[in-house]
Amino acid sequence: MSFSHEERQRYARHLDLPGFGEAAQLRLRAGRVLVVGCGGLGSPALYYLAAAGVGNIGLMDPDLVEISNLQRQILHATPDIGRPKVDSAITRLRALNPHVRFTAHAEYLTAENARALLAPYELILDCTDNFAAKYLISDTCVALKKNFIHGSISGFCGQVLTVCPGQTACLRCIHPTPPPVDDPAAAHTAGPLGAIPGVIGSLQAVEAIKVLARIGNTLTDTLLTYDGLEVEFRAVRARRNPQCPACGDAAAPVNV
Ligand SMILES: [Zn+2]
Repeated sequence: MSFSHEERQRYARHLDLPGFGEAAQLRLRAGRVLVVGCGGLGSPALYYLAAAGVGNIGLMDPDLVEISNLQRQILHATPDIGRPKVDSAITRLRALNPHVRFTAHAEYLTAENARALLAPYELILDCTDNFAAKYLISDTCVALKKNFIHGSISGFCGQVLTVCPGQTACLRCIHPTPPPVDDPAAAHTAGPLGAIPGVIGSLQAVEAIKVLARIGNTLTDTLLTYDGLEVEFRAVRARRNPQCPACGDAAAPVNV
């Protein structure tokens, strides 16, 4: 299956890029990615995945666009206030790239629906804004042996980690349990500075494109942290923990 003339023009910069080219672009077109969360992280991630020509993109978010979202959630615009975020996002992404097949999931990810919702996709992007969802995504992806890309932000900071379950560190290998809800680290009401999710969501898109295209090195076993105020990137080595309650050698199958 090769590309149409229009696709060749659209993806010309990828097709000419040494180390990328037609084989990688074809893998993107065959790709099936679910982005959980269509807010601050999901906005740049979705823009770049759709622009890059990822063929099948699922979008999950139960929320409606609110005016306070617009400081950072750049997929949505003022006339979209009150619309479901998945609808607003798909309208904009379809205008960007009509070759992509979009699937809307306007619902919360729960322990009951997580397996069925994630199963059809080959790669998951965690663009959620709370630890409960992040641990649910990590546990479900471990149970389904599905690669995922974690992203999170707080204030002026953010972090990214790519996980290949069973091979590289999952969230519980690094922190076995989520922080308690009264922990300041768990609160997502202060901030963030609007451009911080732009940095982290874009890094998630780069990771996703490399995983789908099977090129380069990824942030597996490496938690990349970014402090925008101090202008500091750090690559923190992580290791799969054989005693991890989710992916460890003796871990009971996770009940998700
Ligand atoms: Zn683990």
